[in-house]
Amino acid sequence: MVMSCLFCRILQGDIPSHAVYSDERCYAFSDIHPQAPVHILIIPRRHIDSLDQTTAEDTALLGHLTAMATQIAREQKLANGYRVVVNTGEDGGQTVSHLHLHLLGGRSLNWPPG
Ligand code: 5GP
Ligand code: ZN
Repeated sequence: MVMSCLFCRILQGDIPSHAVYSDERCYAFSDIHPQAPVHILIIPRRHIDSLDQTTAEDTALLGHLTAMATQIAREQKLANGYRVVVNTGEDGGQTVSHLHLHLLGGRSLNWPPG
């Protein structure tokens, strides 16, 4: 728990969010500024700054986060496809320093990203 971290405060319930999925290791909730009809964030309950801060010890957690993104995509009926994105660091466009996976779907997504 990092007091200054927005997503830690969402995990604490200090800031309201719309829950999509929750378990002992992760939490998924709707993005406040959706960039697609489905835009969900999947975050670990343990604070990790970014993907760049993970180590080999986080392999199982990263697998779990990815598996849950896939499970949520199925529940959201994204059978036509979807995208899982992890913006990392300044050049990666990361604005919240608590590791999160974006699950985007429900429309045809452009490539390459900006
Ligand atoms: P990043 O830019 O770090 O990859 O993604 C951060 C995401 O968090 C953005 O898509 C942004 O819309 C979302 N976000 C920022 N503040 C809040 C908030 O207070 N609540 C929710 N649900 N999402 C937020
Ligand atoms: Zn945090």
